[in-house]
Amino acid sequence: MFEITVDETFSSGHALRGYRGKCENPHGHNYRVRVRLAGKELNGIGLLYDFKDLKTMIRRETGRLDHQYLNDLEPFQEINPSAENLARVLFERISGHLDSAGGGIAVKSVTVYETDTTAAKYSL
Ligand SMILES: [Zn+2]
Repeated sequence: MFEITVDETFSSGHALRGYRGKCENPHGHNYRVRVRLAGKELNGIGLLYDFKDLKTMIRRETGRLDHQYLNDLEPFQEINPSAENLARVLFERISGHLDSAGGGIAVKSVTVYETDTTAAKYSL
């Protein structure tokens, strides 16, 4: 199995509803998103997937979040914009883009870093 990863960053505000502590107040993060793809077959020039195309796919989603207040955006009006929920939402959306691209490659995991030392990962 081959795996590739691409990292992207975005900056957003959020507040965690129901959290007892500082994080219930609006504050911001410089998020890092790490998307890992996996597949068995390389293409004719030895690539699992073009890094550039994966980066474009990730930016389609992180671009919607960048410089926004996450609590105002779908689906975070309903669910908390925690790193865990961000990882799951980005996993599902990027998987959807990849499915429509086809080719036996799948998103293996999405990791969302809120800081250099704290992250949440979603994988199947
Ligand atoms: Zn936070």
